[in-house]
Amino acid sequence: MKKFFLLILLAAALPVRAELRVFACEPEWAALVMELGGDKVNAWSATHALQDPHRIEARPSLIARARNAQLVVCTGAELEAGWLPAVLRESGNAGVQPGRPGHFEAAALVARLEIPLKLDRAEGDVHASGNPHIHLDPHNLLAVAAPLAKRMGELDAANAAHYAERQRAFVEKLRAAIARWEKEAAPLRGMRVVAQHRSFSYLFRWLGLVEAGTLEPKPGIEPGSAHLAQLVTQAKARQAKLIVRTPFDSPRPGEWLAERTGMPLATLPFTVGGSERAQDLFGLFDDTLAKLKATP
Ligand SMILES: [Zn+2]
Repeated sequence: MKKFFLLILLAAALPVRAELRVFACEPEWAALVMELGGDKVNAWSATHALQDPHRIEARPSLIARARNAQLVVCTGAELEAGWLPAVLRESGNAGVQPGRPGHFEAAALVARLEIPLKLDRAEGDVHASGNPHIHLDPHNLLAVAAPLAKRMGELDAANAAHYAERQRAFVEKLRAAIARWEKEAAPLRGMRVVAQHRSFSYLFRWLGLVEAGTLEPKPGIEPGSAHLAQLVTQAKARQAKLIVRTPFDSPRPGEWLAERTGMPLATLPFTVGGSERAQDLFGLFDDTLAKLKATP
């Protein structure tokens, strides 16, 4: 009995923290939720920058987080098709299932690149809904910010005005940053780049970079020696200047190609936490641009 009262006293002594509990699938969405919510949200990311978001295990820790979440914010477009359905099902949390107000998919809000004309699994791990890696075009973040802030306000009506205000401030700050980034990146326009996976398609399109080949012969398929040999010829013929990888791609294929072509290999942060400078969404683009511009 004494113990029971002690617990009540302890609970009463703790400050009231009625934060909106958000389960984000990827660090970029946790970062966006933090921009929009500030101290009114508790955003947790299911994956970190060194993990490939295509390949995650539906671990008990993820399920426990999903069980307690009020809002799930993910990319969608099948990026998390291999693990999120199991996490949500096992969570038993009715409010965050697809189609419910507590379920938010960012990719549905933007025009997606690379939507296949026909679906053929022989073509590799093709995303039927198009390329899901939408966050590296900051215009897409602008498109996601307003509906996301609105949704946060619907789930947490007491703080709706706070989210709306922060959303306006974020959009203003991001617009100014975009103008600066576009100016800085203007000399990169037309530069030919070899990527590992199609992780950077939106970044390339935004900045006018040209994909001169991918290390993966097909999405999700490891490069073999015949493909790599052909890529050496292709990269030279197309005068590619740079190879880029994410922090979670194996460095070996890129290093191999770098050695044979003399092209530098850059590890771009890809998402928040992917490099020392990429501590938030602004740092993510600052560092990405700096690394692209460091190409000789
Ligand atoms: Zn992908």
